[in-house]
Amino acid sequence: QVEITAVRKSFGGTEVLKGVSLTVPPGGVAVIVGPSGSGKSTLLRTINHLEKVDGGYITIDGQLVGYEVRGNKLHELREKDILKQRTDIGMVFQNFNLFPHLTALENVAEAPVVALRPDGRQRRSKAEARERALELLDRVGLKDRAHAYPRQLSGGQQQRVAIARALALDPKILLFDEPTSALDPELVNEVLDVIRELATSGTTLIIVTHEMGFARDVADTVVFMDQGQIVEQGRPEEIFSNPREPRTRTFFSKVI
Ligand code: ATP
Ligand code: MG
Repeated sequence: QVEITAVRKSFGGTEVLKGVSLTVPPGGVAVIVGPSGSGKSTLLRTINHLEKVDGGYITIDGQLVGYEVRGNKLHELREKDILKQRTDIGMVFQNFNLFPHLTALENVAEAPVVALRPDGRQRRSKAEARERALELLDRVGLKDRAHAYPRQLSGGQQQRVAIARALALDPKILLFDEPTSALDPELVNEVLDVIRELATSGTTLIIVTHEMGFARDVADTVVFMDQGQIVEQGRPEEIFSNPREPRTRTFFSKVI
């Protein structure tokens, strides 16, 4: 369960999140849509504490993100505890961000061996990590490309490797920030299909996307953001066919 409560964030003097609250239950799929600059990416980044909030708070399964309570006050966690916490939160970006000098398999197997060093322990041995990485590559349809380097893969394949890599730490939730917007149109569906499969298998997902047909298919709830606020949210069949707010209606009339 992800609980975002009254989150505020400013850059310079400009408030880009103006008190955002959102709950995503375990296994739930929330799709965030909205115009450019409305704060979608910033909101996602606060969920894994890549951005510090200026107000409000976020919990995952009841645990505060980025902070702990000591003597009635919030104190920011130490860097190593933040890194440890981030292993529960997978993130997939627009531009894949794979390590170019590592094969697909190595990209997926790397995190479970390396990323957990801050607490002095590996979650998996190298051999276990490789075995699990192969399973995950199989799940995203790329077992036969395990030894290819990113430059030898199409954008869609690279993004599927990135999804496998995000899954390698068994995260509690997975965040997607426009995972298909850097892809050629004919490669979009192979990535969306993988995310669809995750959605039906009970992974908790928060997805920012402009793919409205996909949102309609997978979302339990569609969240419309504008100017740093959630204007409206609801089940896809409700919000797409019968938006209550004029701003939502205007946005959908442009993108659908
Ligand atoms: P898009 O659809 O274009 O990706 P978005 O909804 O993801 O837009 P954000 O990237 O969250 O929007 O940006 C919200 C606002 O915050 C924008 O006005 C942006 O310029 C500003 N902003 C984001 N990150 C920073 C930063 N690190 N420093 C200063 N301003 C920022
Ligand atoms: Mg963005």
